[in-house]
Amino acid sequence: VSGNKSDLGVVINEKDIEDFASDVNVLYFETSAKTGKNVNEMFRTVLRKSIKTKNSSKHTETENKPPTTTDSNGFMAGSIHEGPEFGIGDFVLLHDVTLEAFMDNLKLRYEKNRLYTYIGEVVVSVNPYKPVDIYNKNYVDEYKGREIYERPPHIFALADSAYKTMKRKSRDTCIVISGESGSGKTEASKIIMRYIAAVTNVGGQKEVERVKDVLIKSNVILEAFGNARTNRNDNSSRFGKYMDINFDFKGDPVGGHINNYLLEKSRVVHQQTGERNFHSFYQLIFGANDQKLSELKLTRDPKKYFYINQGGEPKCATINDREDYRSVMNAMKTMGFGFDQAEALWKILSAVLNLGNTSYEAVDDHDMAGISDKKLLSNIAHLLSVTPDELQKALCSRVIAAGGQVVEKGLTVSEAMYARDAYAKATYDRMFTWIVQRINEAIDPKASGMRLVGKNTVIGVLDIYGFEIFDNNSFEQFCINYCNEKLQQLFIELVLKQEQEEYMREGIEWIHIEYFNNKIICDLVEQAHKGVLAILDEACLSVGKVTDEMFLTAMSQKLAKHEHFTCRALQPADKTLEHKRDFRIKHYAGDVVYSVESFIDKNKDTLFQDWKRLLFNSKEQVLKEMFPEGKQHITETTKRPITAGTSFKNSIIALVDILACKEPHYVRCVKPNDLKSPSVFDQQRVKHQVLYLGLLENVRVRRAGFAYRAPYSRFLQRYKCLTSHTWPTFRGNEIDGVKTIIRTLNYENDVAYGKSKVFIRSPQTLFQLEEARDKM
Ligand code: ATP
Ligand code: MG
Repeated sequence: VSGNKSDLGVVINEKDIEDFASDVNVLYFETSAKTGKNVNEMFRTVLRKSIKTKNSSKHTETENKPPTTTDSNGFMAGSIHEGPEFGIGDFVLLHDVTLEAFMDNLKLRYEKNRLYTYIGEVVVSVNPYKPVDIYNKNYVDEYKGREIYERPPHIFALADSAYKTMKRKSRDTCIVISGESGSGKTEASKIIMRYIAAVTNVGGQKEVERVKDVLIKSNVILEAFGNARTNRNDNSSRFGKYMDINFDFKGDPVGGHINNYLLEKSRVVHQQTGERNFHSFYQLIFGANDQKLSELKLTRDPKKYFYINQGGEPKCATINDREDYRSVMNAMKTMGFGFDQAEALWKILSAVLNLGNTSYEAVDDHDMAGISDKKLLSNIAHLLSVTPDELQKALCSRVIAAGGQVVEKGLTVSEAMYARDAYAKATYDRMFTWIVQRINEAIDPKASGMRLVGKNTVIGVLDIYGFEIFDNNSFEQFCINYCNEKLQQLFIELVLKQEQEEYMREGIEWIHIEYFNNKIICDLVEQAHKGVLAILDEACLSVGKVTDEMFLTAMSQKLAKHEHFTCRALQPADKTLEHKRDFRIKHYAGDVVYSVESFIDKNKDTLFQDWKRLLFNSKEQVLKEMFPEGKQHITETTKRPITAGTSFKNSIIALVDILACKEPHYVRCVKPNDLKSPSVFDQQRVKHQVLYLGLLENVRVRRAGFAYRAPYSRFLQRYKCLTSHTWPTFRGNEIDGVKTIIRTLNYENDVAYGKSKVFIRSPQTLFQLEEARDKM
């Protein structure tokens, strides 16, 4: 449709072109195959047909007057405005932008079961902690193909907006979901995926249905192996996830790809009181039948296994492990996992559980470790498809190459205990990555057997751990909070950039806005040579023993002047920081005290070659694939492996690059209380989140110029009934129509006219227009 529009012989505007571009696309690909046809003529026909259908569709009928029907949720179809009793649907339209006004509106909407509120195009979502019937087919129909401002705020509107951008403009889009643990990120990502599944594949293609099924079921497996009950959330994601969904030129999903980030592997060997290990362990124990359990050398009593009994409560009231085991098996089947592969995964889980029960005792005067429970040893060896002898060696000694010679060195009891946990963590972590790789193979668009013609576009969905402040914050929290700093920075840049671009596009003057730029904190962590991660790497890679305390001292010297860093050596009077242990970072979301304990160890993330070699040489193919470096011979020079911190930093920088080149959509999730209660709105907790998510700042940026904007056609449709010049009929073009309304009602001082949209400065003008419209 590029070139001269009049060539088409029909009168169409830009939006029509966008709307029907995909129809034309289809036609193009169909006709290009058929030589000798007059392609132009066929274009004309399809455009005429499409426009006819569009003009007679119900989409435009509801525009003149909103229907007043409401459903059992009090949801009023047909309008973004729901009446004052439900608060204001877009924070940008608040009378005063104060924290109090923001909180009052959020609370009122929460109490009225309005989970979603906009800040312009950003969706703020509050976890209802109860099932709400607002995601059914009727709702899908209400939002499908609409503009975001046409219906009451809903996450479907955001999903549809991302989908439309991807389809109409052929642009890659992404949806970034953020918020703290338990705020509803994962649920939001699933709701978005289900919405996309519901509005695509109208042609009912079998292969597309399969792809949708596979994409949705991948969650079941990832949650089984990557989620756990924590004290904050019964189904807490303990890894970060970014998922691309690929679409073909018709807008149907044809596959996808998942990137996973930093699984919290320490959970495999340790859980706090009240918490559980990853769901998968309990699904196996409670879900597998008796025969399977005995094959796997397990009993049904979770209390018997050290690695899953530390939290104290193996059952979780909101989770049915038995049923979930079946769903996981089912999902693996859909995903195309071989039966043997599924079996191998359960075997590995059982090996990890049994490994956790091994104990070591001194076998000589030098405290060298040995395992006395030979039965347990042979069970684990069996599960890992290695010999008991090889296993014993890997668990109790290390082979090192020194001066061209290979020497075996025994481990002390405490070294062996440490190695055992490191092996268990590494095995689970590698298994998780292996699973993600298999899922990626199953959803690979190239493998889907679909004919990929034309441009292939994606919608990326990011569901990643939110900002964490615990009583004791360690290396993991440090990484997670750094990731949130990076995402916040991207958010600030993109929201401002989007605003700026829209003003430029529309030919409206841009007003500079002051805001807090958290780049200074990102630099504090990631800068070369003098950032925390660089100082940590230096400590880890230097020869000789460097302790966590020495790392802290190095930081206190190199970062002494940084206004976002402090420790006791720099602030001796600050009793909240423990000397020689703590440092504090002033994050955008609040101050966090980190304990340096284990930073060096966790960053080094050493895994002795012995374990890798053992499992590479296993008869079990899955284990072999999990440890490919195991094939290296001990004398081969090994490059120093990249540290955990740097590897995480690299993956987050790559993630930011992926997101930055897409058109972003944001969901900001808020947790109403810490009790998982559907009826408590904890002012203090919510206020804190509103502040650190930067929501008020977001409103200010959005309002700095114009609080409200709408395309001319939309504005005219909605308000033409307000003047006798435009109602019942108006014959001029849309811009003139809008100008006539504004002039007649005396709002000229509050309005700017862009190229395609009218911009209104103060929310009051919009309210007055709405009130006038309601009185008609
Ligand atoms: P984490 O960072 O720990 O992974 P999260 O932000 O992903 O947390 P979710 O697991 O999505 O949080 O939500 C926690 C729980 O809150 C869910 O298990 C569910 O019980 C409830 N919940 C969240 N969103 C909704 C919703 N839209 N409707 C009903 N319940 C919800
Ligand atoms: Mg989650």
